[in-house]
Amino acid sequence: MHNVQEDLITTDFIPFLSTARIKVHTLRLDKIHPVISGNKWYKLQFYLQEAISQNKKAVVTYGGAYSNHIIATAAACRNIGIKSIGIIRGEAPKNCSDTLKNAIGLDMELHFVSREAYKNKTLPDVCKRSDYYVIPEGGYGALGAKGVTTIPYDKTTFNIICCAAGTGTMMAGIINGKSGNSQIIGFSVLKNNINIEPAIRNLLTDKNYGLNINHDFHFGGYAKHPPMLIDFMNELYSRTGIPTDFVYTAKLFYGVKKLIEANAFAKASNILIIHSGGLQGNLSLRKGTLMF
Ligand SMILES: *Cc1c(COP(=O)(O)O)cnc(C)c1O
Repeated sequence: MHNVQEDLITTDFIPFLSTARIKVHTLRLDKIHPVISGNKWYKLQFYLQEAISQNKKAVVTYGGAYSNHIIATAAACRNIGIKSIGIIRGEAPKNCSDTLKNAIGLDMELHFVSREAYKNKTLPDVCKRSDYYVIPEGGYGALGAKGVTTIPYDKTTFNIICCAAGTGTMMAGIINGKSGNSQIIGFSVLKNNINIEPAIRNLLTDKNYGLNINHDFHFGGYAKHPPMLIDFMNELYSRTGIPTDFVYTAKLFYGVKKLIEANAFAKASNILIIHSGGLQGNLSLRKGTLMF
């Protein structure tokens, strides 16, 4: 069993990023489980509840060879005792990634599909069954955002909340679940992904909320990780003990640090950085790249 331990979540003050003007904390969702990524767990829960209540026989979802969503879905389905099926982008590789090996170890059935079929979200014929429940890629959707609103943190203390954004489901959920006047800033990890704004707005309960999405820290695009980013991850870890993943959270922490240095936050800001997990993705890096 892969139990998720919410009681391990802490909100840590980060002196390395704080200044005389502002305070920075981080919500350590990465601590809930070494493999199941923090935010994916929350995004999945209402989809899974619906699959069970509709008596579905399996859960089907999509992802790439290193996908945090794939591994989290495999683990969550195994936990609740429902079959899981992963539709994986691209040819079946000779050697599976660690992510896919671990997904297989959690009894997920994998189907490799062409990039074209993946793009169109065409299911292999064996998966086209009315008793199979399909979760959208990345858990994007209203149920995903609803799950995010259950992420436990102190909603009264922080006036700025920063999170990474891929599909934007987490950002939408944080906005929908916030209280008071806190401002949410999303850091897009895809290059020039202007579509993220309508995608997020689509999930908001307050359609007029003023979205704040930063597009400056993608480091060349999704999963790109130039040496500067790797150096930052090692520096952050050595100064704070916080491990980050190179796809999402490293870009988020880096972006917040740069904005602080550029004096982008008002005096007395109290910032919460949501560490959304994803550390299993670092398994795809060559051994020795990271010091953690
Ligand atoms: C998937 C993921 C995100 C992005 O979440 P979205 O809801 O798709 O925007 C952020 N951080 C980590 C670690 C993730 O695995």
